[in-house]
Amino acid sequence: MPSLLNRIKLRQLYKTLKVINDYQDKMKRLSDDELKRQTKMFISRYNNGESLDDFLPEAFATIREASRRVLGMFAYDEQVLAGIALHKGKIVEMKTGEGKTLVATMPLYLNAITGKGVILITSNGYLARRDALEMGQVYKWLGLTVGIGVPEDIQEELSLEEKKKVYSSDIIYTTHAALTFDYLLENLCVNQNDKCMRDFYYVVIDEVDSVLLDAANMPLVISGAPRVQSNLYKSTDYFVGTLEKEDYEKDDKQIWLTSKGIHKAEEFFGVNNLYTKEYYGVLRHINLALKAHFIFNKDEQYVVQNDKIMLLDKSSGRMVENTKLKSGLHQAIEVKEGLNPSSETRAMASITYQAFFNMFKKKSGMSGSVIEEKKELKFVYNIDVVEIPTHRPILRKDLKDSYYGSFDEQFEASMEWLMRAHKKNQPVLVVTSSIEMSYIYSQVLLKNHIAHNVLNAYNVAKEAEIIKDAGQLGAVTIATAIAGRGTDIKLSNEVKQLGGLLVLGIGRMENKRLEKQARGRSGRQGDPGTSKFFVSLDDEVIKEYGAPSLMKYQHEKEIKSRRIKRLMNQAQKNFEIAAYRARNNTLEFDSSTSAQRYIIYTLRNRILKDEINYDEMLDGFIQDQIKDFLIEIRTKEEIERFILNNIQYHIDTSLSYDKNQEKLLLRIAREQLSKRKSEMSQNRYKQFLRIAILNAIDNAWIEQVDYLEQLRASIGLRRYSQKNVIFEYHQEAYRAFEKMLDNAKRNAIRNVMLSSIIEKAEGTFTVMLP
Ligand code: ADP
Ligand code: MG
Repeated sequence: MPSLLNRIKLRQLYKTLKVINDYQDKMKRLSDDELKRQTKMFISRYNNGESLDDFLPEAFATIREASRRVLGMFAYDEQVLAGIALHKGKIVEMKTGEGKTLVATMPLYLNAITGKGVILITSNGYLARRDALEMGQVYKWLGLTVGIGVPEDIQEELSLEEKKKVYSSDIIYTTHAALTFDYLLENLCVNQNDKCMRDFYYVVIDEVDSVLLDAANMPLVISGAPRVQSNLYKSTDYFVGTLEKEDYEKDDKQIWLTSKGIHKAEEFFGVNNLYTKEYYGVLRHINLALKAHFIFNKDEQYVVQNDKIMLLDKSSGRMVENTKLKSGLHQAIEVKEGLNPSSETRAMASITYQAFFNMFKKKSGMSGSVIEEKKELKFVYNIDVVEIPTHRPILRKDLKDSYYGSFDEQFEASMEWLMRAHKKNQPVLVVTSSIEMSYIYSQVLLKNHIAHNVLNAYNVAKEAEIIKDAGQLGAVTIATAIAGRGTDIKLSNEVKQLGGLLVLGIGRMENKRLEKQARGRSGRQGDPGTSKFFVSLDDEVIKEYGAPSLMKYQHEKEIKSRRIKRLMNQAQKNFEIAAYRARNNTLEFDSSTSAQRYIIYTLRNRILKDEINYDEMLDGFIQDQIKDFLIEIRTKEEIERFILNNIQYHIDTSLSYDKNQEKLLLRIAREQLSKRKSEMSQNRYKQFLRIAILNAIDNAWIEQVDYLEQLRASIGLRRYSQKNVIFEYHQEAYRAFEKMLDNAKRNAIRNVMLSSIIEKAEGTFTVMLP
């Protein structure tokens, strides 16, 4: 039952819906050409000062009618309600199969009228292409352009020309990863011409919980040149292997040494105090090895395949291609598994999805399972969640969960359900909470000669193909939690007579959303269907997050006690809290990086757009640098070295360097600078400065990003010292940033003063940096 607040929110949407419906007859009467002309009309109304809200009803009615003509789909009233909410910057919870793809077309069309570019994000490239191709027909029909931000073949990359085309489109369909990656890349380029993105204006995020919550713990990182390989991996791996239970402690995703463990470490590595800066590297590697040994488990978070560590996506059980854990964790796991550590790359740029999406002026999203997280979404992103009623009543029966003492009982009971349904040809979808479980079901089905499909470790497109058919007569499908999310399972009439799709959920999942997604596979758009969950004390979540006292009930067959059931369910809540904390932690750490990135990117953009008074800026740099240098008393040799290293390649021996040092250095530097300026045309000089200064900023910033990354990785261990870890992190991050700025300024001066310029063919040149 939707809450009172939700009903109030809906009431306002219904009012607008009524106005839209009133336009419908008029739109129906328009010829195709007249309907197409509406777009131009809206654009000119917008340009003449009307707001989007002024013509929302007409615009919605227009694309609604266009979709009917082009796709044969006329948005239901509920879909229109959701569309209005999206335009208002809300997140809508709308059940699976209610047609969210079509919903998004309405606010996207309306907001595209501004010409500022609107973006639809989905959780994977397959869905982005699928939806762009289908919905794109309508936008194009109405005279708008559509871009797809992911390549057709995931192995390929879009060229700069292709990207320019994509990002200048009116409406862009892409994934969060692709978009964020492009954003970071843009901020590494040296030419305004190589940039193709506009300011972020409006975004609709499909499967929004998966993007904003589940992906929130994995910041996107662009890696660059390899770091020198550390030989500490093997020794710390060995050391951690010798630890006993009392040597370390852990909580959600963090692990640290106890005082006993620290003592052991100091003995093992022969150091007096592990917590001094000198042994920072050792500490970091111990931390990595601890995580590799005690937090990462084979076949849970990763598998070993062809001598490589392949990460698993927890919710789908799928192997994640081309992704490595960062900051050395991947290497630590490789060493733990007896492999050689692969080369470790530096982080060049990174951003969390929280920070990224908060750059949009207006954001909105949709999902079948998000209402549970409305508090967090409000707090972190400041977005409201609205629950949209289904078009037809939900007929699916969600049966009561059954609880068992062990996996054996749980398995047997669920197999009974499976067999019973299968005998009468009713399709069954088994959703397991781990990959191993899906293998067990598959093996037993094989033994019983029951044809079935298993979904894990496939590619997304293939999964979509398979899960689409999960509703066929007699089909049996085994899948991990959200494999094939976003794909529609259609039922034949025959199957409907049999009661629709039966979803069997195996095990308490990590959160309620996953269970909701699993159930939602059945009973879409008023179809019949049934769902049932089988829970046991062997479930991963219950074992790890449940009360330890629960384990004494493991010998019981079926658990009937309400109290014990409640305790079992509490484990899931504990997990949800831990996951929330981890996300929040990421967010808290991120605030430093975000602020620093903002400063650097803003500066870069001003330079790229030539909005800088270079003379003033460089003179300021020079003065600062000379003052810094002269804080100490300097000898003649030191002064000369300073000049040779920073200002020019020769020394004027006629000058005396022991009096008025500051004035003298300032004069030499200023003279050299004006000499540089006079060597080139004004235009060339500007181009040259841009290259020289950006190079200095980028080098310093890349190092800073990498440093912050590592600082964050090492900081877990300081928890032992009971200091406020996050406060300390921010302090250190700030100190490092100041140092980085100094560095950047110094190198900018050096680059400007000491570079040589090589003329190339007509009008082009190369800068050889010192
Ligand atoms: P969701 O993303 O909400 O799970 P989809 O967008 O995948 O749902 O749509 C589910 C199915 O419903 C698709 O096959 C789609 O073509 C169909 N559909 C959506 N809206 C309509 C409509 N207004 N009229 C007819 N079919 C629709
Ligand atoms: Mg969808």
